[in-house]
Amino acid sequence: MNCPFCEHGETKVVDSRVAGRGAIRRRRECLVCSQRFTTFERTEEALTVLRDLDRVAYVRFASVYRDFQSVAEFERELARLEGRKRHTNGTKRKAQRTPVR
Ligand SMILES: [Zn+2]
Repeated sequence: MNCPFCEHGETKVVDSRVAGRGAIRRRRECLVCSQRFTTFERTEEALTVLRDLDRVAYVRFASVYRDFQSVAEFERELARLEGRKRHTNGTKRKAQRTPVR
């Protein structure tokens, strides 16, 4: 998390609050210029919710949040998502075929 004032990378958290739906509001202080600023951060749980709701948004967000170190790492995450998608669709089709009485 870089300081928005001097862009220094080291900050300390001075306050943390739950901001609803897996988001955390953090008050941070820059270790260099001592300016304070607020960040909204997602928890791992929110990431899971997002993954199920909107896969494109998830991939965009996860690429930043998880800070992928390589393209291969990113591709592995995509492959995991594709695996989930196939599984989910399979379950859905099966459920639709079940006769309703
Ligand atoms: Zn600063």
